[in-house]
Amino acid sequence: MAVLVGAALIVIEILVQPTTTVPGTSSVLIEDWAFRLVLVGAAAVFFLADGVEASRVDPMLMAGAALGAIVVLAWDHFSRLDVVTVGLAVFVLVAAVGKLLRLIARTRRADARAVTAETTHTASIEASLDGVVTVDARGIIHEWNNAAGDLFGYSKSEAIGRNVGDLILPGGLPAGSGGDAAGNSTGALERRRETIGVDAGGRRVPIEVSVARIREDPPMFTAFIHDTSDTRRHQAENEHLAAIVRSSEDAIISRDLDGLVTVWNHGAQRLYGYAAEEAIGKPLKELVVPRERWEKQDQIDRTVLTSGSAATMALHNSKDGAERHVSLRAFPIRSEAGEIIGISSSAHDITDRLHREQREHQDANAQLWRRRIETALTTGRFHFWSQPVIAIRGGHIDHHELLLRMHLNGRTVGPAEFLPSAENSELITEIDRWAIDHGVELAARGSVAINLSARSLSNPRLIDHVRAAMEAHDTRPASVVFEITETAAVENIDAARRLVEQLREIGCGVAVDDFGTGYGSFIYLRHLPVTEIKIDMSFIQDLLRSEVDQRVVESIVMVARNFGMTTVAEGVENAATLDMLGGMGIDFAQGYHVGRPAPMERIAEHPGLSIDVDAGQKVS
Ligand code: C2E
Ligand code: CA
Ligand code: CA
Repeated sequence: MAVLVGAALIVIEILVQPTTTVPGTSSVLIEDWAFRLVLVGAAAVFFLADGVEASRVDPMLMAGAALGAIVVLAWDHFSRLDVVTVGLAVFVLVAAVGKLLRLIARTRRADARAVTAETTHTASIEASLDGVVTVDARGIIHEWNNAAGDLFGYSKSEAIGRNVGDLILPGGLPAGSGGDAAGNSTGALERRRETIGVDAGGRRVPIEVSVARIREDPPMFTAFIHDTSDTRRHQAENEHLAAIVRSSEDAIISRDLDGLVTVWNHGAQRLYGYAAEEAIGKPLKELVVPRERWEKQDQIDRTVLTSGSAATMALHNSKDGAERHVSLRAFPIRSEAGEIIGISSSAHDITDRLHREQREHQDANAQLWRRRIETALTTGRFHFWSQPVIAIRGGHIDHHELLLRMHLNGRTVGPAEFLPSAENSELITEIDRWAIDHGVELAARGSVAINLSARSLSNPRLIDHVRAAMEAHDTRPASVVFEITETAAVENIDAARRLVEQLREIGCGVAVDDFGTGYGSFIYLRHLPVTEIKIDMSFIQDLLRSEVDQRVVESIVMVARNFGMTTVAEGVENAATLDMLGGMGIDFAQGYHVGRPAPMERIAEHPGLSIDVDAGQKVS
């Protein structure tokens, strides 16, 4: 602007110079020209100035131009100037006044804006959730917002004027800010730094501070202080949870709504054998739930989604195919918005506990049965039932097998319930002694078969007991067949052979019971001079349909004949089987079709061997 005015003055000077030197020309005319030029220049300045930022020069220029115009008009008052000059002067005066008024208005607006900005600034500082503290180069507090007050427990009046280091930041503002913010240009916000502040109560407050230099001269700084205790607590909680998940003995597994594994901790690896890399992204069901239990698993999941949790026991498979019993708790996983996005479950391996409990239960059960056996032995609660064994050719009863029963609280209990509890103890020897005593006594009146336990095979006193019983009851040894199971015989072949030989010496018969189940070959029969083979009922019951069974039975008949042994088929449940067995050359038959086991009392009433086949177990 000043340059333009200068240029205009130079032009005026050039124009004025030559005309003044021309003789005879009117000075008023020259003055008019000069005035006109000055006025046109001033007018131009106004128009140009309008587009340019207002500066300090503007008002001076305008005042000057207005003054010039007033002078011209005053001059005109004393010595009339031409209309053009006066008109220009009036125009310039009006323009200058208008411009001045506009400038004043603009300045007022700017002031108002500044006030608004200041108010807004203060308001936003006050509204800030972060503490905002403005300090000077010495650290003296000039500004202190409500959040800072809440955070540190000092009111505005308590804080302002105090040193920020003394009041809340023992270390002063973080290095690189405050007094030595040399590298910080005004307004640039420094990176947030974590530090510890101290509140009015002396409590340490974890905070994040960032500092901005807000003024150069004198330097002023604003610190924005963020309370991180919440963040820290959340962080700490999350880390704590993660540590629990990591170190948990239990399997902690999360999956999304498609059932794909998203979290798989060490406990899960220990329990199921899959590493996290193998499991994550896979369907949990396919990994650990046996297919036949998928339906149940779906049910559990539905319960979780509808009821908010589920607790149950489940049977899972580990990677190596082993069964794992687990106690399972499952919960839905929710997003921050509250919608269910997956299922989290913890599985505690109870396989060992379950097995231990089962063992303990079995032990307790066995203990109970042993007590009952002892009582039965001493109080005469053991009884024999008998089942007839018939000669297929001829159809008459050859003998009766004696089957042990216990009377217990008004009911009759079979050996399957009590024998297993006795088998590993001396009690089984007692039972065998009882069976020998009572069986041999019965045999005085008719032929019987007496079962012996595996343990009796290696009992050296057993044979003496048999002899004594025979003498005591005056029983013909030939009317007794002792049955020993194939399994027991094969397991202890030497003892079995000794006993078989001794029993044969006395004159008793000996049968291999449950023949075909012992994984033994026929060869051991060479070392076991038994008189009879009792073919296990598993080969008989399906005989009509199974050609394999038929061939097995035929082979046994062949071998038995070669060794001079008789054959008994157990478990004959229908006439067709009995017919087929007869056709195959089996000697004797036993089974529900022939006669069911029945209480022994009645056979005692009908001693003798010639019991009618049809009467069977009725023995009456
Ligand atoms: P075992 O010696 O093989 O006796 C035959 C078993 O088969 C008997 O069961 C009998 O009731 C059953 N049975 C007979 N006919 C049929 C049939 O047609 N179909 C079916 N499904 N079963 C039939 P029980 O009386 O329960 O005896 C079980 C086992 O207990 C006997 O098997 C024997 O090993 C043992 N046992 C029985 N009495 C004595 C005993 O006095 N002393 C010893 N040490 N063991 C005995
Ligand atoms: Ca038997
Ligand atoms: Ca048998």
